[in-house]
Amino acid sequence: MKNSIKTMLSLAIAFVIYSPLAKAQNTPNSLNQPGYYHMALGDFEVIALSDGTTPQKLNELLTDAKPGEVEHLLKQHYQASTIECSVNAYLVKANGKLILIDAGTSDVYGPALGHITESLNKAGYKPEQIDAILLTHIHMDHIGGLMNGDKIAFPNATVYISKIEADYYLNPANKAKAVESAKRFFDGAEQKLRPILIAGKLRTFDFGGELFPGITPVAGFGHTPGHSFYAIESKGEKMLFLGDILVSDAVQLPEPSITSVYDYDAGQAATTRKKALAEAATAGYWVGVSHISFPGIGHIRADGKGYIWVPINYSASGRGQ
Ligand SMILES: [Zn+2]
Repeated sequence: MKNSIKTMLSLAIAFVIYSPLAKAQNTPNSLNQPGYYHMALGDFEVIALSDGTTPQKLNELLTDAKPGEVEHLLKQHYQASTIECSVNAYLVKANGKLILIDAGTSDVYGPALGHITESLNKAGYKPEQIDAILLTHIHMDHIGGLMNGDKIAFPNATVYISKIEADYYLNPANKAKAVESAKRFFDGAEQKLRPILIAGKLRTFDFGGELFPGITPVAGFGHTPGHSFYAIESKGEKMLFLGDILVSDAVQLPEPSITSVYDYDAGQAATTRKKALAEAATAGYWVGVSHISFPGIGHIRADGKGYIWVPINYSASGRGQ
């Protein structure tokens, strides 16, 4: 069990006082925004898909900060301590295949979220067309959309997840050992991932090779035991999907040591984040981030001891930047 006592305590306290993605937090709304954004990446196309937005109390969600530091950094970005947090997934068109990175929430978090299928339809695609789904990790805002009730939502897709992640969350013995507040992640895996496994549509991978030409999983551990990034590369252009290693650009870019109550191993998550940010800033490739303001695509630029977020420049054609 890698959780430090400190992490377990902070998780327990946070879940008792506040569950940021609780149904009661959501206000009824439909997805009034278009919910998709196209961009070309070499011969590939990336289409950001919005699952919706939901209020998040970042001053309670973010931990390992000095007193008042989170509020101060949010204020500098004209953000309140409770912000509308995006839940993004990404459709990659690569070599004739339609590959989804994460699957949104489905009906798990109420009407403000659960719009991936709607966004996919608006972008011109149907769930039956999806060939593969690459999961960054097994949390409900990333795997919820795999199932609609007891039906597989993307019936023709093979689902990919790191072996470490699947082995951890699909093992009841690990649930028995986990702190009470973390047991629901195992329940989520049983509800959303086990049926995919039973249907013979789950593929697990080790790191070190491509899943498809130009598409490579990269170890990004800490937020969960087997959390994965995905690198896509075409014609010299690259984008790295960072999952949940970065939750708030306003707070965790200037101070990458600040962690999240949802981190399985907060220390490891901080180390992974610092390495990923340094590499992205040095190499200058694109990044896609699940909870940065939609479409969550941009660049990371070094700024003093930290970094700043440079969002993608809007392009009506999706072919210019
Ligand atoms: Zn997430």
